Amino acid sequence: MSKNRRESKQQFYSKGRVKRGPAPLASLTRKTYRKALPELRRDFQDRCAYCMRHIGTKTDMQIDHFDPRKKNDKIQIYANLFLSDAHCNRAKSDIWPTDEEQRLGCRFLNCCNEQDYGESIFEDPVTHKLVGTTPAAIFHIETIDLNDPGLVNERKIRNEMTKNINDLQTRLGNDPNVALQLSKLQAAAEYFIPIIPPPQA
Ligand SMILES: [Zn+2]
Repeated sequence: MSKNRRESKQQFYSKGRVKRGPAPLASLTRKTYRKALPELRRDFQDRCAYCMRHIGTKTDMQIDHFDPRKKNDKIQIYANLFLSDAHCNRAKSDIWPTDEEQRLGCRFLNCCNEQDYGESIFEDPVTHKLVGTTPAAIFHIETIDLNDPGLVNERKIRNEMTKNINDLQTRLGNDPNVALQLSKLQAAAEYFIPIIPPPQA
């Protein structure tokens, strides 16, 4: 591979929303891939790869095979393993777009290689439902059921919290006691699904 091609490949991989660190040292097999959980927790920061929900307890953490056709490979590639909550793992299941769907541009978005949120997935500021702007994003949102009422509600609560914190900050932020309380509220708000930009007009 030429130097330029190598560099452009690196650039491509650094474009993801999630930055992967080093893979586990031990090679992963179909029986031992769950040993990658510490590295996945580190790289995905305890959030679901798909809905970005914070996964509170270790028992709720699941490992999704991004490309399920590789699920039974004897050697498992770390880059194909994604931290997921039960909802998204169940919805995504072993689904992979058919040839016909792929011809129409349907595919899953790989958050380790590309920006999904703010690039082709946006949040309607009124309904808090996700809106896809490409065939891939629409397929991704529908297949993984990212407009499940529970997820929509969490995004709504997070938006209200952020708005209230910002209002208080503007009105009372100069008071040191209020500022301390606000920083605690801010820390609590960061536990929720992060703010997702609205669709561009
Ligand atoms: Zn999820």
